[in-house]
Amino acid sequence: MKVTHDFHIHTDLSICANETATLDNYIGIAKKLGLKKIGISNHFWDSKIPGVNEFYDIQDYDHVAQIRPEIDKANAKEDIKIYFGCECEYDPVHRDVAVTEETAEKFEYILIPNSHTHLTMPREYYEPYQKHIDFMIQGYEDIINSKVSKYITAVAHPFCAICCPYDREILINMIPDDTFKRLFDQTANKGIAFELNVDYMAKYKKSYEEIAEAAHIRMFRLAKEMGCKFIFGSDAHSTTEHESYEQLTQAFVELLGLKETDLADIAK
Ligand SMILES: [Zn+2]
Ligand SMILES: [Zn+2]
Repeated sequence: MKVTHDFHIHTDLSICANETATLDNYIGIAKKLGLKKIGISNHFWDSKIPGVNEFYDIQDYDHVAQIRPEIDKANAKEDIKIYFGCECEYDPVHRDVAVTEETAEKFEYILIPNSHTHLTMPREYYEPYQKHIDFMIQGYEDIINSKVSKYITAVAHPFCAICCPYDREILINMIPDDTFKRLFDQTANKGIAFELNVDYMAKYKKSYEEIAEAAHIRMFRLAKEMGCKFIFGSDAHSTTEHESYEQLTQAFVELLGLKETDLADIAK
């Protein structure tokens, strides 16, 4: 199976993306890579819900929806299908996803991470490691059991703690198989997909052998065993992040033995 989609792309509407992150540039890259579907998932927090981090102050619906006319225009003339989505956030105060049902309906798909701990978790939880892990597990369960769970397409980069001051694989290694199995069984039952995000492997330029031994692979295998469906994402914030996309997605496909039937419907 060749991966022909990327549902995790940030344009320059995300305040952490650079000026090369335009829809036009990504369409050019997608054509070169032979992608048939791409999804725009800018960082988003629904302004109807009180914020917990100033990072989201301007990244509300009106802000991320500015890309919508451009997507519609491109869909009318391109062979590639482009989706309007978002990377929403976990709200640790309300222990729910930071989007109302009314706003969730406006997106074609929604990604939610339980691992933006640099934005959502008190800094003192970084150590001991178990505190950081427990925060992510609680976030994961709250996401799966959210009142807007039917709008959630996938959990973004599950348990891959972003901007973690120490090696995030330590945390994944500390989580027992049984815990993952319990969480992923619920994920599969809710029809929420599991994102295979290649950003970590790309950032640290991991070789095939290193990927095969990465903590993530054990977690991905357990997700597959429990019946989760998958979508792939680059987490691109500029035009350079797709350089190893083909090679990395292929490594994941081979190591996990993925077939077309393992993909979430939106990615088929
Ligand atoms: Zn993210
Ligand atoms: Zn992202």
